[in-house]
Amino acid sequence: LDLSGMTDNTAALGALKRYFGYDSFRPGQAGIVDTLLAGRDVLGVMPTGAGKSVCYQIPAVLMPGITVVISPLISLMRDQVDGLNDAGVPAAFVNGTQAPDEQGMVLAQAAAGQIKLLYVAPERLETTRFRDFAARVPISLVAVDEAHCVSQWGQDFRSSYLGIGEFIAGLPARPVVGAFTATATERVRRDVVGLLGLRNPAVTVTGFDRPNLYFDVLNMESKHKAAWVASYVAEHAEESGIIYCATRKDTEALAATLNQSVPQLREAKGAHTAAGPIAVAYHGGMLADERNRAQADFVADRVPVVVATNAFGMGIDKSNVRYVIHHNMPESIEAYYQEAGRAGRDGEPSRCTLLWNESDIVTRRRLLDGDYENERLSPEEQEIVRMAKRRLLDGMVGYCRTTDCLHRYMTRYFGQEGDDGSPCTACSNCGQTFETIDVTNIARAISQCVHDVDQRVGSGKIVKILRGSKAQDLAWLNPEAMPTFGMLRDVNEARVRDVLSQMATDGFLFIAEGRMPIVRFGVRAGETIAADFHYEIKRVRRSSAATGGTAFGGGVG
Ligand code: ADP
Repeated sequence: LDLSGMTDNTAALGALKRYFGYDSFRPGQAGIVDTLLAGRDVLGVMPTGAGKSVCYQIPAVLMPGITVVISPLISLMRDQVDGLNDAGVPAAFVNGTQAPDEQGMVLAQAAAGQIKLLYVAPERLETTRFRDFAARVPISLVAVDEAHCVSQWGQDFRSSYLGIGEFIAGLPARPVVGAFTATATERVRRDVVGLLGLRNPAVTVTGFDRPNLYFDVLNMESKHKAAWVASYVAEHAEESGIIYCATRKDTEALAATLNQSVPQLREAKGAHTAAGPIAVAYHGGMLADERNRAQADFVADRVPVVVATNAFGMGIDKSNVRYVIHHNMPESIEAYYQEAGRAGRDGEPSRCTLLWNESDIVTRRRLLDGDYENERLSPEEQEIVRMAKRRLLDGMVGYCRTTDCLHRYMTRYFGQEGDDGSPCTACSNCGQTFETIDVTNIARAISQCVHDVDQRVGSGKIVKILRGSKAQDLAWLNPEAMPTFGMLRDVNEARVRDVLSQMATDGFLFIAEGRMPIVRFGVRAGETIAADFHYEIKRVRRSSAATGGTAFGGGVG
């Protein structure tokens, strides 16, 4: 019986109740709190909203001395500090939005022991003023929020995070360090531990599964997406939903479509639609006023649907979102999880549907080449970031293509162990019938064609050649002289595209980015010429896939 652990826990629970009014810890929190209180470093991997703050705030109030919280977002800092002060915990922040005088005052208060939690942006650590301060005051705990920012392999690398490890190492007495993030790829975790200088950290990964969410993936041609969404919204007119689009233009177009066609669809079914818009658009290009109004209308249930870019959602507290539909494939599982995860905060059953097709992948690949304007990166660093983003995208494509349980795919991706491998009842893959299709010959032809064109062209041209197209833009290749010209004339074009794309996912091909993506051989290309090469793909059986079973019908009264 470990009484010391119990004592800590009692004190921790008491503080949780006293300062935050909660009766119990959420999964993972108690263990992290105990570990930090016992003096051991922690890497806590928890999704946004799972309650990371409590993990360091409770130790902060129970430990002697000061806790320095390093956080990248100045706006969130203010909210946190206000919240803590309201709860009776002395907290403050220093950052560049304050006048030097004000900063000096906060640091003086902290030095006098009047502050328990001091929030700073990583840039601050590099200033002499802050270093002098840190050398004089007892710092018991350093909590690093959004710790993945230290890694170039993550989504939001920040060079200022690289100074944190050195800052900690330079302190007169080494504090306990807790690093927190919602990003969990192996590579990022290793960077966090290494670059922050964590010592034998206890790694805790929790909270990623959201059993009340039904995950749903639908492969759908772009031209059918808007009608599908309209039909879904019409069928769920009483519910709140968020629809994420890739571009600002798309949000406006789709919102307009919904406002026009949803009432018509409902009327056709004899249902009445309340006056007022069904959907509002929301994106970063709107005036702040318009944007705030859109958000307020949605949050207050005056408008059931918001059609938004990924600018929507940060800090929005709406618990009764019943569905989140992605009109396009996001850039990473992290992004998808965060956006889709805005559904069902109240724990009620909710649905997260992802609509995707091959051209989404092409678009995303093209964007990989985009700008990295927020950082001054050398060409090598840019290449690393690009590779990292590519991996993230591969994870997302994998989610779209997997025939495994979608919940399991997600929790495994985030490194959370502990499922028993049985099918769930809350995803479109479990209980779905897949058929196995032998595409050996198609794959072999594609591979030969890539050889015929000397790995010089994109997937569109390869498909055209294989299908015997006489298109003018191919003339310079003299395709008719190629052995593979017209070889797949009798195969459906969508199937050829699908197999080509799957081959890229599986490593037989490699899509080299650039202004025009080029299909090259992947590491497994050699296998396709082996005599015993055999290649199968699994696809949803056609009959059940028609429209994802949600064509507007019934149930509206
Ligand atoms: P994160 O930093 O992981 O995104 P937060 O720390 O902001 O998450 O917590 C998300 C929400 O969960 C907050 O509203 C917080 O007050 C609440 N919360 C955290 N821990 C608990 C708990 N043990 N019981 C109930 N609510 C909690």
